[in-house]
Amino acid sequence: MWWQELSKELSRLLFPSPQFCLICRRYLQDEGLPICGHCVIEYGFNWKCFTSGDDLCFSFGLFQGRLKELLHVIKYQGGFDACRALGLLLGLAIREESRLQDANYLLPVPLHSERLAKRGFNQAEVLADNIIKIWKRKVFRKAVRIKNTVPQSDLSFKQRIRNLDGAFWIVEPTLLNGKHVIIIDDIYTTGTTYRQLSRLIKSFGGRTSGVFVCSGPR
Ligand SMILES: [Zn+2]
Repeated sequence: MWWQELSKELSRLLFPSPQFCLICRRYLQDEGLPICGHCVIEYGFNWKCFTSGDDLCFSFGLFQGRLKELLHVIKYQGGFDACRALGLLLGLAIREESRLQDANYLLPVPLHSERLAKRGFNQAEVLADNIIKIWKRKVFRKAVRIKNTVPQSDLSFKQRIRNLDGAFWIVEPTLLNGKHVIIIDDIYTTGTTYRQLSRLIKSFGGRTSGVFVCSGPR
């Protein structure tokens, strides 16, 4: 149909495929990916499944080595393009993941407004916004962080749980009733953040899975 062709053309204009690798800026040789083959090997991207309680979670690799360095750049040195690239890559992986196809929403882990102002962008939201360019789903933006917590990486396991207790809330929670929600974040380490959000979503009748760029050594 002509309007489908038109909408495809428009989406190509609005979201053109990158010409250069979004991580290292090398020219892309039509690999069908937002990053070059060199970076795929360099960062060791490898889709894997793990569980968090009863939930299925997925990530590209372990939180170590070059991938860990890349996430540090994204978080603290304004690596917006690299974050976009990781979102597009996650989109390609999720699109082929049969266990996630009944999902209704992607829920990026929210940042507190003060930290968002400091960092300029929420990396989890950039990931979700780029996933949906590849895999059409709705981004659920009604989760808020109501407590400005200390970075989890600075704390012990017990402190992490206390730190996040009551940190999140859902505005319009009835939207979650009976829905499958995928929680999106850059890192899953001890899983405290994930479990807090997942528990909250389940208390409003939702079901959860998780998708992360990387997960802690397990
Ligand atoms: Zn590259």
